Order: sequence, then structure tokens, then C-alpha cells
Amino acid sequence: YTSTEVTRAHLDRIEATEEQIGSFLTVTPDVALATAADVDRRRAAGEQLHPYAGVPVALKDLVVTEGIRTTAASKMLADWVPPYDATVYAKIKAAGLPVLGKTNLDEFAMGATTEHSAFHVTRNPWNTDTVPGGSSGGAASAAAAFQAPLSVGTDTGGSVRQPAAFTGTVGVKPTYGSVSRYGIIAMASSLDQVGPIGRTVADAAALHQLMAGHDPHDSTSLREPVPDFLAAAAVGAQDGSLRGTRLGVVKQLTGEGYAAGVQAAFDHALALAQAAGAEIVEIDMPSLSYALDAYYLLMPSEVSSNLARYDGMRFGLRAEPESGPITAETVMAATRAAGFGDEVKRRIILGTYALSAGYYDAYYGSAQKVRTLVQRDFAAAFEQADVLVSPTAPTTALPFGKEESGDPMALYLGDASTIPANLAGIPGMSLPAGLADGMPVGFQLLAPAREDARLYTVGAGVE
Ligand code: GLN
Repeated sequence: YTSTEVTRAHLDRIEATEEQIGSFLTVTPDVALATAADVDRRRAAGEQLHPYAGVPVALKDLVVTEGIRTTAASKMLADWVPPYDATVYAKIKAAGLPVLGKTNLDEFAMGATTEHSAFHVTRNPWNTDTVPGGSSGGAASAAAAFQAPLSVGTDTGGSVRQPAAFTGTVGVKPTYGSVSRYGIIAMASSLDQVGPIGRTVADAAALHQLMAGHDPHDSTSLREPVPDFLAAAAVGAQDGSLRGTRLGVVKQLTGEGYAAGVQAAFDHALALAQAAGAEIVEIDMPSLSYALDAYYLLMPSEVSSNLARYDGMRFGLRAEPESGPITAETVMAATRAAGFGDEVKRRIILGTYALSAGYYDAYYGSAQKVRTLVQRDFAAAFEQADVLVSPTAPTTALPFGKEESGDPMALYLGDASTIPANLAGIPGMSLPAGLADGMPVGFQLLAPAREDARLYTVGAGVE
């Protein structure tokens, strides 16, 4: 097939299914077909192209794309057309991957269901009465519904892995700093990472490989050569690859609080891995009992600082007060009142409170200490195991409306198994581990920092 044929097939599929699913905020057929035509012409001319050149991709609408509206699913940026490209997008273009469009998310990536989008909900292709997870819900549903073979998401506390789990796809959160954050709209900068979503471990490996690498525009970018993730996945796909691999089952991330069907699917996948020669070890990580609390202090603190830039002056929405004087303060207040949704406001308020003088040591300071303990627990755990494993989420995809039920805490608890990796900066993967009541269950793998390749080897072995 030519890239034009493949790209057209996906655009047709989007057209046929988008009304039911709602993965996209913007579809870009012209952009996609132009890239596809260019790839076809160059390939016909005998040019040596990237192996994934011509394979279409969808981008979470948190990736800044020059000339293509980028909204973060917020009214604040509803009409923003960026004047520059995120490094990840520049790399995708340079490799010749046609971009099908920008996918839906929770506003500024804050959420776990994609219901916090200011524009519309996204439905899980497995059961359209349930959410696709979040915040990268549109990216995951696009891959699951065969609207796109590959998608780019971001993961601050699980936003690639959890929607991958809910939609039966493979999602990876790379080592912090290994994929550039330049041009990724910031949520919580010390936790944010860009990651690939695909339907197979090898597809995720290929997209990850293409996006990774040092970037002088990102001060937290690692200066290290990118390993061959595709080769790592190929090794894992060979018979017997799991023999001798020590899989660490984290005590705090199984059992109580996990739905019976989820636990059963996880246990079954683990038994299969054991039958294939993996060694199962139990790991105790006491600090994980506090990881969620630390995240929900550190993350809003960074959010309150990162979102200060949406002030009605520089770019994005500008609203004016209905009455009274027009000053910098009143414009700012009117803009932020009109532009941000409830969840975003809730987190900004939490963050400014946690950072305020007099509370800083009690809240932010303590949370930073927990973060250090989590990092130490991981270091000790990786002495005993090659890879740590857990269910990716405590449930399968939830029905709609939980976000509106007025209980944000219940949803925050759903992040318990994914958040520790972000606090420690280590890589994680979610891959499908069968079904519970007809809905996909995610199997999470965690590896030490900079050992992302290990996820692809073990992931392909478990797959
Ligand atoms: N669900 C988590 C939260 O609401 C994770 C979000 C994310 O990873 N972007 O913060």
C-alpha cells in the first residue's frame, strides 16, 4: 500500500466512526495527505526513508503544532494557532509520518476520564457507555478504534498508561527527560512526559524511538544516545525470552482496592509469564502508601505556577469584566474565570495554597520528602527485581458521570498505581492483559530510569 492509501483509509475510518467515539478535537486531512503524497513520491524516487515513514499518527492536543489549532481542550486556547512546533512534532514530520489530527483530553491534561475537556466527551470504543480514561483519552480511543495506528499522549500521573489500559492498547511513559517536553503545553513540569500509544509493543517502540533523544530546547533533556527499542521488542518476542526475568509484584499495588476481575486478569497474565520461565518475587514499598498524597500536592503546586501564563495578555483568550474598570487585574480575573474549567481552577487553588508562606514546609516540603522516599524504595526494589508489575488501574473503564458525581477523591484514588513512576522519573508501560466482564485490563511494567528498552523486551515477552 502507498502511504496515501493507508492515510485515506484512516481518514475514512475517522469519518465513519468519529460521531460515536469523538476522539478528535481537530482532524487535519490536508496536512496528512500532503505528507503522505510527499512520502510516496520520495519512496518512488528511491529515497531512503524512515521505516515508519508514511504511517499515520494522531497527536494529543497538548502538542504544539505550527499552523494547526492547539487547544489543550480548554476554552483558554480554543482559537490558538501556535507559531512554532513542539520538538516531538518536528521529529514526526521529519520522519514522514502523516498527522491525522489533534486528539481530545481532559483540560490541560488534568483528569482521568477525558470528561474534563471543555469541548466534548470521548467514548470508549469497547463500550460507548464508558469513558476511554484520561487524560490522553482521545489518543487512546483513536488507536483502539483503528482511527489511527499510532498516537502521541502525555503522562504526568498515568495519562498514557491508564487510557491505554482502558482501551486495550499499549501505552508507554518514558524515563523523565528522555523525550523532549519543548512545545508540550505544561501541566506539572517535573512529572510530565510524552509517550507513545499503539496497538502492539513494537508499534509503541517504533514511535518512542522516533520521538526520543536530546533536545537543547529542553533543559531537563537527557544527553544520552537512544537505545534501539524495536530491537529490544524483537528480542522479547522470541520464545523463552522471559526465562530468568525477575518480575516484582508490588504488594501495595495489588489486592485490596483492585476490582476482582482486574485482579484475576492480572494474576492470570502473571501465571502465564511464570509458566514461560519468569521468576515472581514479592516487593514491599511502604512509601507508596503516601505517593498519591504527595502527587496531589506537588502536581497542583506546579500547575498553579505553569498556568499563571494564561493571563489574558500574552496569548489565548482575553475576556473583559462586564462592569467596572478595565485594569490588568480585572482583565486577568475575567479571563481566568471564563477560560478555565472547574477542575483546573480547583488545582490552581490547591497549588497556590500549598505554596503559600507559612504552609510551604508543611505541605510542599513534606511532599518533596515523600518523593525522595519513593525514589529510594524503587532503587531498593530494582535490586530484587528486573521489572516491577501491577495492574495499571484498579478498575476497568468507568461509566460516564463519575466526574460530575462531586467526588474528585474517588477518581484521584484510581491513579495510585501509575503515579509512583512519575514521582521517581522511571519508565512504565501498560499492555493488554485480557478482559474483565468484556472490558480490557491493563498490565503495568515499571523499569529503572534509562532502562526503557527493558520494558519493550519484557513487554513483548508478556504480550
Ligand atoms: N489522572 C491524573 C491527574 O488527574 C493524571 C493526569 C496526567 O497524567 N496528565 O492528575
